[in-house]
Order: sequence, then C-alpha cells, then structure tokens
Amino acid sequence: MAISVLLSPSRYVQGKNALAELGTYITKIGKNPVIVADDVVWGLVEETVSTSFAGEDLPVKRVGFGKFATAKAVDELVELIESGSHDVIIAIGGGSAIDAVKASGFLADIRWVSVPSAASSDAPTSALSVIYTEEGEFVEYRFFPRNPDLVLIDTQLVANAPVKFLVGGIGDALATYLEARATWRGQGSTMAGGRPTHSAFALAKLSWELLWENALPALDAVRAKTVTPALEAVTEANTLLSGLGFESGGLAAAHAIHNGLTAAPQTHGLTHGQKVNIGSLTQLVLEGAPTQEIEDFIEFTTRVGLPNTLTEIGLSNENTKELRAIAEAATVEGETIHAMPFPVNADMVYDALLAVEGISRRVRAERGLPEPELYVAH
Ligand SMILES: [Zn+2]
Repeated sequence: MAISVLLSPSRYVQGKNALAELGTYITKIGKNPVIVADDVVWGLVEETVSTSFAGEDLPVKRVGFGKFATAKAVDELVELIESGSHDVIIAIGGGSAIDAVKASGFLADIRWVSVPSAASSDAPTSALSVIYTEEGEFVEYRFFPRNPDLVLIDTQLVANAPVKFLVGGIGDALATYLEARATWRGQGSTMAGGRPTHSAFALAKLSWELLWENALPALDAVRAKTVTPALEAVTEANTLLSGLGFESGGLAAAHAIHNGLTAAPQTHGLTHGQKVNIGSLTQLVLEGAPTQEIEDFIEFTTRVGLPNTLTEIGLSNENTKELRAIAEAATVEGETIHAMPFPVNADMVYDALLAVEGISRRVRAERGLPEPELYVAH
C-alpha cells in the first residue's frame, strides 16, 4: 500500500487588521527577525509592523525584493541571514517574495514566515518554492522538510490590494480541486510525497465550493476596499485551503500547462493565476470532463475576470510553434501532468490547447458574455 501524507504550516492566522498582531506571533518563533518586502508593500505595512514589533522589543530590519524568486535572489537572502545572524525570516508580499524567503530560510537553517499582502496565490502555506528566471520562466520546484512556522494574512490588506491580485488567487485556487480530483482518480503522488489523504481532497473541494459561492461578492468587496464575510471566505480558500489542497491533494495537468506557458514570451506579465486558469480549462478538455462542467467553468471564470481563451494570454491557434513548445514543456518527465489518471503526451496537450479558443468563444457568445480581448505583453 502507498502511504498518504498531509503537510501544513504550524499556525495560520487570518483576519482584518491581523498584521497588528505580527509581533506577538513572531516573538514565539525568533528574537532577531529579518523582513523581506518590496518598497510598495513596505510603504503599506511599515507603520503597523514597526508598532507591533516595538510592543515585543523586536528589532525592525527590512530588505527589498525584486520581481521573481530566482536562484540568485535566494542566495543573496542566505548571505543576509548569515551576516545578520537572523533566526527568522519573514516575507511580506506576493508569492515570489514568499518563495524566495522559504528557500533562503531552508538553506540558512532558520525558521520562515509567510505574510501575504494579497490573496493572490497559494504559495504561502506550502513546504516548497518555485524558482524562476529573471524573465519569469519556470526553472524548478524546491522542496523543504518543513512548512512555514506561521502564515499570517490581514484581510484589510487583501481588500486594499488591486483587484487583479484576488482574481489571480481565485484562478490558482480553482485549479486546486480539479488537480486534486485528477490525482485522486489516478495513482500519482502529491507534492507532499505520498498519496492524497481524504482530508486534503476534502479541503480542495471546500475551496472550490467557497469560491463558487463567494468569489463574485468578494471581488465587489475588494473594489470597495472593504472586508466582508465573502472576502474572508475567498481569502481562506485562496490561501489556506488551496495551499493545503494543492500540496497534499496533488497537482496535475493545470499547473504543468502553466509551467509550459511561462516559456512563451507572449504570456509574460500575466499573473500566476491567469496562466493557471488556461491550464485548468485545458485540463478539463484533456480529461473529457462533462460538457456542462466545462461550460459552467468558462462562464464563471469569465465573470471572475480570468482568461479562458488563448487570445487573453497573447496567443492564438496560429502560434503552432509556441503551442507545441508549451505542450512539450508541460509533459517533460517529472512534471505533475503525469499524475493524471491516464497517460498524457505532448500531442494530447497540444490538441486540447487548440480546442480551448473555440469552446470558450462559443460558450461566451451563447451566454451573453463579452468576447475575449487580446493580451499584449509589454
Ligand atoms: Zn499555483
């Protein structure tokens, strides 16, 4: 019998103004923290964090961050940790800063903490990082023996962040159930290093259900910069449930296709969740999901504002060279697509990618939804 594995962070804290409690939680973990946050995020949180740290006699030491979790960015943080003898590293920001912090904390053998400044991806809770090039192309997954000691998310920050961040997080989280379901049906193992547990699958499904119920009103809340129960639910779905669900429930085709898409320059500048959504729809086509499910997914993701056509990620069915390269990259040995419950090759992914545009355009026309707009990478 294969073993089943469930991983999770030690502590998850969510709520309006939760950031004011950061010092209280950090002091249980370390005494000499270093914070990684880019200038924009730091401008938003500096006062709250400084007050909170002062209350616990914690020093405030912060460094900036670039755009992607590159191998170089990770190594620079390791040097910083060692030269300052820090005992805990805290990422305040998006998925890239969080991934760089996790990887550096592991290499320097200290504790690490995720403080997402938006509910834009499910990176914060997991014991792995995704490493990219300076251009944002996927390089590798790195796995760690521990999850973050703390994940703290302030829903007022989520409400104040640009709407596109929450949209991206919803795209990332919708994939979680689809990929967990495929992994459950097959024989594949998860990022946690075993078969999925019933618990992880149930959490992935709960994430999906909360999103279908709450995503649209949560986006309304962010447009009004206000925290509502719907926004709390979507924040938890995107961050905690999707995080546990993807790591211990299994990734499959959607994220492998996302990773392939990062190699196409036309997609640069799109958020993780936007590209993942193309992966989700392609996976539904690839696995021959029920027509009703595919059509409802297209309608829902259109209403959320996620791309579900190649046009919206800067590609078209005429980009045969790029689509072929995406299909090849998505099916390399070791990619999560091989957790699908049937053998998948590049031809099958290529065919599914070609099918997406026509299906989405038809469904959008039939259901009175807007036509897709062409994305142009800058
Ligand atoms: Zn993801």
